Amino acid sequence: MSTKGRFDPEEGVPYGRCLSCEGEVLFASKEAASEHMSATFEEAQKAGGRSGHRISVLNQTREMRIQSEIDDIVDKAMIDVMDDALRLIGDATEEEITKAFRHATADFSDAWYEALEENR
Ligand SMILES: [Zn+2]
Repeated sequence: MSTKGRFDPEEGVPYGRCLSCEGEVLFASKEAASEHMSATFEEAQKAGGRSGHRISVLNQTREMRIQSEIDDIVDKAMIDVMDDALRLIGDATEEEITKAFRHATADFSDAWYEALEENR
C-alpha cells in the first residue's frame, strides 16, 4: 500500500533530465540539476555563449507541486476579481478602476495568516 501524499514526488523517478547533453543525463534532485545548469552556464559564458544546458523536469518536488496548486487557486480567484471589476465600468471609468488597482492592498500571505487564525 502506498502512503504517497497528494503532493509527494514519484518515488524512484529522477527529478529531471538534461536536454542539451548527449545521451541520457539524469538528475536525482533539483539541486543536482541546478548545479549542472550553473556549471554549463559558466562554461558557455567563457566560450562567449549565453545559456547553460536546458533541463526537462520529470518529477516535480513537493514544493513545486504545492506552489503550482496555489498558483492555480490564485489564478482562479484573479478571474473572479477581474469579472467583478469589469462590472464596475459605467459607474467608474476604466482609468479610475486602473488607479484603484494600483493602490490595491491585496496580499495573499497576510490573508492566509488571517484565514489560519479564523480556522483555529
Ligand atoms: Zn547537460
